[in-house]
Amino acid sequence: MNAIIFGAPGAGKGTYSTRMQNQLGVDVIAMGDIFRESVKQNTELGKKVKSYVEKGALVPDAVVVEVLKDRLSKVPKGKGFLLDGFPRTVDQADTLEKIAKIDVILQLDVPDKIIIERLTSRRLCKNCGAVYNIRFLKPKKEGVCDKCSGPLYQRADDNEEVIKNRLQVYKTQTEPLIAYYKKKKMPFIVNVTKTIDQPPEPMVEHMMAELKKLKLA
Ligand code: ADP
Ligand code: ZN
Repeated sequence: MNAIIFGAPGAGKGTYSTRMQNQLGVDVIAMGDIFRESVKQNTELGKKVKSYVEKGALVPDAVVVEVLKDRLSKVPKGKGFLLDGFPRTVDQADTLEKIAKIDVILQLDVPDKIIIERLTSRRLCKNCGAVYNIRFLKPKKEGVCDKCSGPLYQRADDNEEVIKNRLQVYKTQTEPLIAYYKKKKMPFIVNVTKTIDQPPEPMVEHMMAELKKLKLA
């Protein structure tokens, strides 16, 4: 099964995809994680994308598409994938259509107010990338990853100014993809977040149940 997990920054794409990865037996391809790792390692790719990621601007399509193709070619035969953070523009979606077949979109619908509150208190594990929130999804021990005991840190782009820019980019460039895929009759599984402290598990259950109905899980 090949799926896209879709939603605004901070909607929970990373949180849900890591929780569903094992149950679905798919590879998760998270563009932002790939970029952050390459910036950290200061690779050629890292040098190319650093200024964009820091500002919350889109990395140019040519660069993103090359990374995607490379990563897709590493998905073992017969295994599916879950795309997190791609496509983010109509052009990227057009390109994707030429290189892979997508079965379903997992849409995360979260009000702006909740997004801003979540992003400013989000923390990530430096080792494994697991996502926490110091107010709403706390690790068992402060500052330490539950899974691997790695140290937690705050993403450089999780500050109010850059968040505003990322939301703006989402509204203008990425959100139109909903209409784009609806027009193509792509199946959607929609998850609406109503409260900020909503735990992720019931949503994961919901998505798994809907995927089973579609015979995709
Ligand atoms: P978010 O929490 O904003 O969804 P991500 O971790 O998915 O963040 O992405 C972080 C940054 O990486 C984005 O702000 C952007 O600069 C870059 N990026 C990620 N995916 C793409 C993409 N498909 N196209 C262009 N830039 C991207
Ligand atoms: Zn960890």
